[in-house]
Amino acid sequence: MNHDRSRDLYDRALSVMPGGVNSSVRAAIEPYPFFVERGDGGHVIDADGNRYIDWVMGLGPLLYGHDLPQPVESAIQSRVSEGPMFGAPTEIEVEHAEFVTRHVPSVESIRFVNSGTEATVSACRLARAATGRDKIVVMQGGYHGAQETTLVEGEYDDVEPSSPGIPESFAEHTLAVPFNDEEAAHRVFEDHGEDIAAVMVEPILANMGIVTPVDGYHETLRDLTEDSGALLIFDEVITGFRIGGLQCAQGKFGIDPDITTFGKLIGGGFPVGAIGGRSELIEQFTPSGEVFQAGTFSGHPVTMAAGLESLRYAAEHDVHDHINDLGERLRTGLQEIVADQAPEYTVAGTEGIFKVLFTRDAPETFEGHCEGGCSQRPDCPRFEHCPKNAADVAAGQTDRWRRVFWEEMSEQGVFLAQNQYESQFVTHAHTDDDVEETLEAYKQAL
Ligand SMILES: *Cc1c(COP(=O)(O)O)cnc(C)c1O
Repeated sequence: MNHDRSRDLYDRALSVMPGGVNSSVRAAIEPYPFFVERGDGGHVIDADGNRYIDWVMGLGPLLYGHDLPQPVESAIQSRVSEGPMFGAPTEIEVEHAEFVTRHVPSVESIRFVNSGTEATVSACRLARAATGRDKIVVMQGGYHGAQETTLVEGEYDDVEPSSPGIPESFAEHTLAVPFNDEEAAHRVFEDHGEDIAAVMVEPILANMGIVTPVDGYHETLRDLTEDSGALLIFDEVITGFRIGGLQCAQGKFGIDPDITTFGKLIGGGFPVGAIGGRSELIEQFTPSGEVFQAGTFSGHPVTMAAGLESLRYAAEHDVHDHINDLGERLRTGLQEIVADQAPEYTVAGTEGIFKVLFTRDAPETFEGHCEGGCSQRPDCPRFEHCPKNAADVAAGQTDRWRRVFWEEMSEQGVFLAQNQYESQFVTHAHTDDDVEETLEAYKQAL
């Protein structure tokens, strides 16, 4: 494949943008990323005219790939033609809020913002204000955007900011426990229960490999938070409207969090975030309450049209069924390849997300293992081997994944997420052929 134009563009970009990109992960590809010219269904075409099957899909916001259904495209275009935004409320915001509160069980009221980061920042502020407590419990390796409270590394109550520029004093209020570890969850509440404002957790770790919860884990978090007067925040920025269909992952797992953060799909491919929950909580935001929250672009009419019409279309068509079927087929095919060629690797994911994790040990038998990807079933022979938390994922062959495997897949025209940690997304635009071609490429590259 020729990448001359991408290389030239990256060269120019390096002179005027830090690392040549506007979001770090895009530069994880070495020596330089390809630049995208345009999308086409489930594919992207790069600046040199190379075509790839795209499983990155914007890293989460695209349910329909790169071709919007006609009603979605018309709704966006008609909003644009009416003027981009106003600084006054519009009907489309009300309609979108009504749609979300109708479909997501725990959400009675919602505030739209402009990114997932903004949503998690506001959710932490709200939880702290509502409880009068400062500490936020997060999962090690969980991702909640580029924000001060959650960018931490280290263990338990010995955490530090994971980036320069964040005062140590922020990290003093953050506690980090391993995902799927019930004992650690109990301990953090025994030690710090009275100071904990909230536990913030992705229902499925989707920015650190893909790690699904073991049976009962979220129930434990729900009970612990309830008993101690803390709040449970589900960060559904990735899982929202993707996992569990329109009721989101909380519906699938049967858990009612107090606060939910949204992003990605809820804006149909435009910049977005949202904080939802019970009215008595969400109404503590200004102007109905005291907790300051505001944004020039919040509830942007074009974003609202894109998000609402995308979700409406999904409500009226078999969008999630198509996505989940293809996802299942992809993961089942990957499991066969892995069993044959790299039995130590783990096929992770559920419904429309997937990843092959380059883990290092295999069970003795594959008989009776989870079909269609690791689902943390205790009697599966892989159970002890499937990653349970971020440290387990990070212990895999992450450099081989990024430096060797990614490149080989790319050469075969398959665009995978830029490192071992980011999820890959099946969309409504993907086809059986895309799945077959992708499986062939894995066969060659693994
Ligand atoms: C992407 C993501 C965020 C951050 O959202 P941005 O729109 O990138 O700021 C927060 N939480 C989770 C779970 C995410 O996947």
